[in-house]
Amino acid sequence: MDYNALAQLLFPDVTETPEDIAARFPDRQLPDNACVTRIGPSPTGFVHLGNLYNAIIGERLAHQSNGTFYLRIEDTDNKREVEGAVETVINAMEYFGVHFDEGATADGDNGNYGPYRQRQRKAIYHVFAKLLTEKGLAYPCFMTAEELEAIREQQTANKENPGVYGKYAKCRDLTLDEIKANIDAGKEWVLRYRGVETDEYISAPDAVRGELKMPRNNMDFVLLKSDGIPTYHFAHVIDDHFMHSTHVIRGEEWISSLPMHVELFSVLGWKMPIYCHTATLMKIDEETGGKRKLSKRKDPELALSYYQQEGISKDAVWEFLLTILNSNYEEWRLANLEADYHDFPYSLEKMSVSGALVDIDKLRDISKNVICRMTAEKVKESWLEWCEEYNAEYAELIKKYPERTVAALNVGRGGAKPRRDIETWKQACNFMSFYYDETFKVTEDMPEECDEAAVKEFFGKYIASYDHSDDSNTWFGKVKAITEEMGFAVKPKDYKKNPEQFKGSIVHITNMLRIALTGHANAPDIWEVSHVLGEEITRRRLQAFA
Ligand code: GLU
Repeated sequence: MDYNALAQLLFPDVTETPEDIAARFPDRQLPDNACVTRIGPSPTGFVHLGNLYNAIIGERLAHQSNGTFYLRIEDTDNKREVEGAVETVINAMEYFGVHFDEGATADGDNGNYGPYRQRQRKAIYHVFAKLLTEKGLAYPCFMTAEELEAIREQQTANKENPGVYGKYAKCRDLTLDEIKANIDAGKEWVLRYRGVETDEYISAPDAVRGELKMPRNNMDFVLLKSDGIPTYHFAHVIDDHFMHSTHVIRGEEWISSLPMHVELFSVLGWKMPIYCHTATLMKIDEETGGKRKLSKRKDPELALSYYQQEGISKDAVWEFLLTILNSNYEEWRLANLEADYHDFPYSLEKMSVSGALVDIDKLRDISKNVICRMTAEKVKESWLEWCEEYNAEYAELIKKYPERTVAALNVGRGGAKPRRDIETWKQACNFMSFYYDETFKVTEDMPEECDEAAVKEFFGKYIASYDHSDDSNTWFGKVKAITEEMGFAVKPKDYKKNPEQFKGSIVHITNMLRIALTGHANAPDIWEVSHVLGEEITRRRLQAFA
């Protein structure tokens, strides 16, 4: 077979040479040991937690080493592509504060190693498809879907490995004339790699799992599909080579295709990147109690949009993922309570190989810790930013009462044990509702120890003695005096010991106050809340019960 003639027949439009392409993508000028990493999401319209998980690893590796982190859109599967999906990926990454140095952006490409959308790199792939054809390593395959199905059935019946290889690779040895005739007859073809029958093993470096040893590829796998668009395998090797990725961070579901990638790097004479195959995201199944893969259908938390819609702070999501990613993150956080998580020395060695457990309760807990350590101003800004998109009513309130909002957010903030009231921006709307008359509602009943007469008596006395300028000690002294006067125990333990001697305790008295002022018995410090609300609102809310 004249492979040059075959290459010319299949790729008549390819004029560039492999050297031309190499010259277009020279080595990057980066410090020694700088990492070049990327994410390569497919624009399916669904951005999942795994995309962010891998993005964080790539971002950390690149930016901790003064390297480059880029975004490549892997749009080779047009069946899965959804209108606007590229923007969805870009927006999601932006929301979560993932910064790319280069790659696809909403308004085109940024960087010298583009195009960064694979469909636009078709001409580059064809140069190497032609090269492999010239070397006798690739050939056109005309097998129809029915023929492929038939061999699959035969292989299943014979308990053989599925796929096109060896004797099943029907088009391997077609002559140039036969190929020409097929093409002239308008038959569709794909370009297949010519695999070798071998019992050799290959090995590839994996920074998470150590050296991966696997049987060498023997498959005639597809390089170019019938529309001339490459498969993931071919595009991955070419792109990560010319974009000079040092590390390829991707899900462990790609391990099984690694022999194809190793094969291509080897025949093209290129250095392999270091692979980092990350653990699949898992959760504890509520029904069975066992670990299982997160599912797109069952688990809303797999979608990144879930975190945006729930208003989970991006910082909390980062910290949560870092705790899953590096086993020493939590220890570091405890020792560095105030540090920015970007200062954590992320390392591939500390990654777990077994499934990464996504525990939403843990995320919520982390989220409370993250938000309680923020300044009130930062909480206000982040909460407002979320409300601007998801809750217009609260966005208006925050803008109408900026000072009251900050003062409210300062209640119980700071100190060694700050209050952990806010967990998500969505829940913040709930929690903060009592600070605004527009959203304030009393939803809880007064304690049962306080009948209608006691409620009236208490609020009458409280209002009569209320002086908004009292400091908190003076204020509390007055509350205690009224408590005693009304026959309630000032010390809750006295009431516990001798319940028959009292109507109730000071807990019930202060609960009445909390309910009147905030709508709930479970609320922050009454004196502080009154001062955030101001005298007028405070008196009005008390009066409603007098
Ligand atoms: N497009 C691939 C995916 O979405 C990316 C894998 C990779 O990063 O190499 O799974």
